[in-house]
Amino acid sequence: ADPFTREALESDVPLTREVAGDESPHLLVSMPVVSGLRWGTLRAQFDLSEVNLAIATSRKYMVGFTFLLAVSSTAIAYFVLSLQVITPILRMRSMAFRFGSGQLSARVRLWQSDEVGQLGTALNGMAQQLQDYTESLEAQVEQRTEELAGANAQLVRANAQLERLAKTDPLTGLHNRRHFMEQLEMEVRRGARIRHQYSVIILDVDHFKSYNDTHGHPEGDDLLQRLAALLQINLRSTDVIARYGGEEFVILLLDTGVDEGYATARKLQQSVAAQPFPHEETQPSGQLTISVGMSFYPHDSRDGRKLVRFADEALYRSKELGRNRVTRYDQVESAIELRSV
Ligand code: GH3
Ligand code: MG
Ligand code: MG
Repeated sequence: ADPFTREALESDVPLTREVAGDESPHLLVSMPVVSGLRWGTLRAQFDLSEVNLAIATSRKYMVGFTFLLAVSSTAIAYFVLSLQVITPILRMRSMAFRFGSGQLSARVRLWQSDEVGQLGTALNGMAQQLQDYTESLEAQVEQRTEELAGANAQLVRANAQLERLAKTDPLTGLHNRRHFMEQLEMEVRRGARIRHQYSVIILDVDHFKSYNDTHGHPEGDDLLQRLAALLQINLRSTDVIARYGGEEFVILLLDTGVDEGYATARKLQQSVAAQPFPHEETQPSGQLTISVGMSFYPHDSRDGRKLVRFADEALYRSKELGRNRVTRYDQVESAIELRSV
């Protein structure tokens, strides 16, 4: 009497129908029975509640399994990605930071040969090149610094030698006139600050032209050297002696007053006269002698140049008076008077 059965009775083909009512769901199936003529219809009804339950349970399992699969494949993907890409990149970044902060030996260690691995190898190669270049530059700078230090030391030595040469007379090894004048100016400045006294002596070899003419210039040079040595022996180490030019010498007796200065000049003149020099018997007086002139600071002047000029004038008077003697500038007038007597 139900609609499906009626439909099945009229149908020549099998029918199925699922009924999902409030009561238990079921499946209706019909099949016409034919054996030559149609003689009947088979109708069957299957209860679907258990099947539906089984389907629902399977669906739950499917959802759970799918979720687990998604989580685990994400985790695996993350693990693989981290191992292959993220960790190597973090290592390269850390290496780059260390290298940038001056740790030139910093390198990245990667065991993979993919693009990331090749990037790491290239980074290491670049770092090695930079390290080699920096080290070779440092070595070059060190070498140049050493060379520069050597050159500087040479320069200092050359300068010292130049300075020595600039104030030395090459023949006698005594100071030259320029250095003497510098020393004199310095003493004048010093004397202006503190109470101070000193003597200036100029001496000249008597008849030196005759010596040269008779024995030749080399012998004359030799004589000048002997004379320089003798003068030095008779002076204190604090005194300044210089070759003023030709056969003239100039001496600064430091911290020496008039009487003491005069005594020293006399001692010099007498020791030259007493000293036997080669060929001195051919000199007009039969011996080698010097004439001396002197002036005193501050007794005669407080001006260095004037003191030298005054000493020179006194020397001129010694020559006029017959040589082989000492004349003080303050006695020049009396010296002239003496001569005229
Ligand atoms: P005086 O007693 O008046 O000083 O007579 P002098 O002959 O010494 O003076 P003069 O100025 O006529 O001659 C100085 C000589 O000194 C002339 C010059 O050839 C010589 N002379 C100057 N410098 C040197 C030198 O460096 N070496 C030598 N051998 N002779 C020099
Ligand atoms: Mg002279
Ligand atoms: Mg002379």
